[in-house]
Amino acid sequence: MAGAAAATAFITHGECLRHDMGAYHPECPARLAAIDDALIAGRIADFIAHYEAPLAAEEHLLRVHPRPYVEAIRAAAPARGIVHLDPDTAMCPATLAAALRAAGAGVLATDLVVAGKHASAFCSVRPPGHHATRTRAMGFCIFNNVAVAAKHALEHHGLERVAIVDFDVHHGNGTEEIFADDARVLMVSTFQHPFYPYSGTEDPAANMVNVPLAAGTGSAGFREAVEKAWLPALAAFAPQMVFFSAGFDAHVEDDMAMLRFADADYAWVTGQVKRVADRSGQGRIVSMLEGGYALGALGRSVVQHLKALGGL
Ligand SMILES: [Zn+2]
Repeated sequence: MAGAAAATAFITHGECLRHDMGAYHPECPARLAAIDDALIAGRIADFIAHYEAPLAAEEHLLRVHPRPYVEAIRAAAPARGIVHLDPDTAMCPATLAAALRAAGAGVLATDLVVAGKHASAFCSVRPPGHHATRTRAMGFCIFNNVAVAAKHALEHHGLERVAIVDFDVHHGNGTEEIFADDARVLMVSTFQHPFYPYSGTEDPAANMVNVPLAAGTGSAGFREAVEKAWLPALAAFAPQMVFFSAGFDAHVEDDMAMLRFADADYAWVTGQVKRVADRSGQGRIVSMLEGGYALGALGRSVVQHLKALGGL
C-alpha cells in the first residue's frame, strides 16, 4: 500500500491475471496488464493507493448467490484444462481464486470507502460480474462482484440507499435480477440494444432506469441519456454511496459492440456521477471493472475514469 493520502484506492491481485479462458478469448489476462501500463503512461500510478484484493468469504458470496450455486462453482473448478460454464464462460485451474479475488476486491473497496480511508476505490479485477445472476454464470461472469459489494454496504455497513451505475455496452442482467424491486437500490444503466444479453427493455422494475441505445450511438446520445434519465433519478434517490459497473466496451475502438463512446465520455460520466455522490453520499464511490476488450482504449478509458474519481 502506498499513498495513504490518495483519494482513490486501486485494488487488484496477481491471481486475477491467471484466469485464462483460452488463447483467443477476448476476456483475457492482457486486459489488466493494459490497465497497469496505462496508469504509468497516464502518470497517475503515484496518485492512487494500491491494495491486493482479498478472497471473498463465503458470507459475502451468500448475500447474493445461494449456497448450492457457490458450491457448484467450487466443484466445477478443474484441476487441469478448461471447463465451460456457458458457451462464453469457462474455468481454468486458476479461475476460482480469480473469481474470489474479484468479489473480495469489492468487499475491501467498500470497507475502505465506508471507513473514509479513501473517497473512492477502483477494482481492476477479472472475471467481471454484471451478467452473473443469482444462480447462473454467463457472459464471462461467475460471481456478481458489484452486487457482492453493494450488499456488503447495505447489510454489513447498514447503509439504506445505494446506487449502481452501469455504463458497460451490455445490459447488466444479473445485477438487475438480483436487485429488481429492492427499494434500497437504484440501478441506472445504458446499453446497446438489441444486443447480448437481450434483456433490460421488457417492463423493468421501478428501481431500474434502463436506457437502451441503438447501434452507432456516440458521445452525444450517451450524454443525453445520462442527463435526461440518470441524473434526475439519481438526484431524487440521493444515494448514500455509489457503485459503478465500469465496462469500457462501448468505446468506439472496441469491436465487441457498436456504440461509439470516446475516452472523454468516461471522464465526463464519472464526473457527473461523482457530483451525485458528493451531494448525498459523502463522495463515496466504489467502481468494479466489467468489460472493455480493445486494450489501448481500455487502458486510456480507465485512466480517464480514475482521474475523474480522484479529481486529478
Ligand atoms: Zn460488456
